[in-house]
Amino acid sequence: MTDDKKDKEFGFATRAIHAGSRPEPLTGARNTPIYQTTSYVFEDTDHAADLFNLSRFGFIYSRLTNPTVSVLEERCAALENGRAAVAAASGHAAQFLTFFTLLEPGDEFLASRNLYGGSMTQFGLSFKRLGWTCHFVDPTDPENFRKALTPKCKGIFIETLANPGGIVLDVEKIAAVARDAQIPLIVDNTMASPYLHNPIEWGADIVIHSTTKFLSGHGTSMGGVVIESGKFDWFKAGKFPTMTQPDPAYHGLTFYETFGDFGFTTKARAVALRDFGPSMAPMNAFLTITGIETLPLRMERHVANAQAVAKFLAGHPKVEWVSYAGLPSSPYHDLAKKYLPKGPGSVFTFGVKGGFDVGRRMVEGMELFSHLANIGDTRSLILHPASTTHRQLSEEQRVASGAGPDVIRLSIGLESIEDILEDLDRGLSRATK
Ligand SMILES: *Cc1c(COP(=O)(O)O)cnc(C)c1O
Repeated sequence: MTDDKKDKEFGFATRAIHAGSRPEPLTGARNTPIYQTTSYVFEDTDHAADLFNLSRFGFIYSRLTNPTVSVLEERCAALENGRAAVAAASGHAAQFLTFFTLLEPGDEFLASRNLYGGSMTQFGLSFKRLGWTCHFVDPTDPENFRKALTPKCKGIFIETLANPGGIVLDVEKIAAVARDAQIPLIVDNTMASPYLHNPIEWGADIVIHSTTKFLSGHGTSMGGVVIESGKFDWFKAGKFPTMTQPDPAYHGLTFYETFGDFGFTTKARAVALRDFGPSMAPMNAFLTITGIETLPLRMERHVANAQAVAKFLAGHPKVEWVSYAGLPSSPYHDLAKKYLPKGPGSVFTFGVKGGFDVGRRMVEGMELFSHLANIGDTRSLILHPASTTHRQLSEEQRVASGAGPDVIRLSIGLESIEDILEDLDRGLSRATK
């Protein structure tokens, strides 16, 4: 993009194709090259020292920064109207980088209990072993977050659009609770993608994506990204020493003072990514950048197909219920219209009549749909959460997070809609024979 016009001033589709990338100056290569290199030659020892001290931007070693990955980071920040971003090897790695940057041992945070199953396990079990306590909250009433706050809470984590369950949260009100408590609101925006929803516009401070899903979009590459709005005042909040106190590993540098509105992602990179190492591979960054170029087109088809499938299933005699916020019967329909006006994604659940066994037989009887644990692929995907992604949870947690025994999850792809509907109809009749 041209330098006199800021990325933010371009339309979404233009940013999806151009943000962060320029023709490669040495060769003129128009597409972003895959910088398949571990390290970068220093000009001299002073240059190297400046880079290591973070007093100059540049590339040292690909665990920290890589030019292909940097393009992806800038692009994701631009799409979310954020200030800066740091990429990671997966969505879960992005969550780890975020909380390691935010919390000290003994700290606590609140999370919606309607989350991706893996996030519930990460927060509830593995984070506990690091001394971080997560309190899960019923997110459908924003005031529940206010009630659950403790003096040690350092953040609120939600998915605006959450599955299973087709739940849409009142993100603006939850952001107000976080603002009153002077703690950041962190939104996992994976299910919506930045095309359908921009949490920062509604008051989120940090946005996370599993780029594995809609952003890469083709089921090819694992990845994650953390984006900061640049608007959170870490000094004023007065409870984030990791951001506001001198860091011994960088000669007493203070991240917020030195890097200001991109201090959080700088710290996530310079400390958490440096010391734990879950970096995104340049090849995966390249595939994700390529995927993002068609994100607006893909999302339009994803939501159009999902809407048609939800309507078809809602009228099907072998279906008990459909939880898609795009249906007027959904209790989340109005919130979806406010926060996801272009459509509430393409991942949703429905209940088959007959419960657990019918559900299992259905996923096994599909031909076009793939039975697997991913979402956001070009292909249509089907899963029985109770026997797969949510099986680590207790029965009570499963039901609470919308993954009861009869629940089937769909991720509607980009195939011809007639073929998608035919496969579902066939799967349902095979399962109930
Ligand atoms: C997949 C997913 C994650 C985890 O991301 P990975 O890339 O699989 O580590 C987190 N949140 C949501 C909503 C997801 O769909």
